[in-house]
Amino acid sequence: MSARVEREALVLPRSWGRERRLYWHDVERLDGRRLYCRDEALTLDAASCAPVGEVLADRARDGDAAADPGALRDRLLAVDAAPGYWPARWLGVLLRHAVALECSDVHLGVRQEHVEVELRRHGTIMPLLALPSSRHAPLVGAAKSMAGLRSYVHDIVQEGRLRLAEVDVDVRVSVLPTVAGERLAFRLPDPRVRSLALTDLGFDPEERSALEAVLRRRSGLFLVTGPSGVGKTTTLYAALRHVMLEDGGRSRVATVEDPPEALLPGVTQVRLNPGDGLDMDVALAHLLRQDVDVIAVGEIRDRATARAAVGAALTGHLVLATLHCGSATEAVHRLRELDVPADRLAHALLGVMAQRLTRLRCAACGVNGLGVATCPRCLGTGFDGRSAIAELLLLGEADRSAVAEGRPPAEPTRRLAERANERVQRGLTSAAEATACAR
Ligand SMILES: [Zn+2]
Repeated sequence: MSARVEREALVLPRSWGRERRLYWHDVERLDGRRLYCRDEALTLDAASCAPVGEVLADRARDGDAAADPGALRDRLLAVDAAPGYWPARWLGVLLRHAVALECSDVHLGVRQEHVEVELRRHGTIMPLLALPSSRHAPLVGAAKSMAGLRSYVHDIVQEGRLRLAEVDVDVRVSVLPTVAGERLAFRLPDPRVRSLALTDLGFDPEERSALEAVLRRRSGLFLVTGPSGVGKTTTLYAALRHVMLEDGGRSRVATVEDPPEALLPGVTQVRLNPGDGLDMDVALAHLLRQDVDVIAVGEIRDRATARAAVGAALTGHLVLATLHCGSATEAVHRLRELDVPADRLAHALLGVMAQRLTRLRCAACGVNGLGVATCPRCLGTGFDGRSAIAELLLLGEADRSAVAEGRPPAEPTRRLAERANERVQRGLTSAAEATACAR
């Protein structure tokens, strides 16, 4: 290590920090210490030099992802109990591991004289741990500082972002003043959107092979429907990956979203910018001139988008889109409400897949649908992981005639409730979960 002391600060080459996986938000202004990274060098106050060893030791331990939420809890308690309590360090460990454990949200609030930390993992809220309330102010202060928010204001809502460089993700941070004190919510990007293939989502073989057949088409509209948070976008991205893989680069693939949820290699991705006139219908119209074959539309929310998507589907493009509605037949009704003419809809629509996510019973403890409080995998919630179920409506000739005449198409043969009950019979989930998710 080459280091020199400069005006009471220890200056180290930036590479020194990088090699040791040391990043500015771990070390900036921790408990009154001043330790920060400049463009050219990692600068440490002379008084802070000793704890650097501790940071590095923590970092070495931190290298291995926590195996489960229980292991994360142990690690956080160890960091909290270590001499020199550093809230930014603690938050960094919490968030990095929450990402690795596929959590979608991390919550931090005050309840009954404790700071309560909760995870939402695979759709289940898990109480992670409780800290003494004296930890609240330093943790909120550190989170605000990491997200570039005003740490000296405590009575307004604030929203920001922080970057976890080590795991290459952006985290949305929301601060809400409540009567008990400020509440923090961290929204983590969905790792499923980034990586999963169609075969990873848990669909039954029947639905999956029907979907794969749709993805071989090069014209028409296919919709994935369901309420928020059921994995519609994950399915869309997995479908595009499937197209890219199967097609051997013969088709040009594009997405139009606000904003893109993940980057897909080889896919043209358009980020909407409604303020500057780049609305969904405008982007779609321009994509048609860019010689694309397959287009994924984030979500059909308005009349212009609905008409543009149907228009693209009728002019030799496979259009995949999500729609916020319940059943497959409801989707037809919803598009009619958005003023898509019945005859155009009847010609364009290939099919609709209504999707839900079923939470799976924790394999480590969930025997009766009830978790064991000491279970490190599910923290007593009884659930670990999720699997997709779907009902698929593929339009046949009779359905097309019905839609063209303004009547609803036939109901799908296998309904969501049936798929959910099959999961119960196979012992994968509880009856209550099946009922709730097929609603
Ligand atoms: Zn468990």
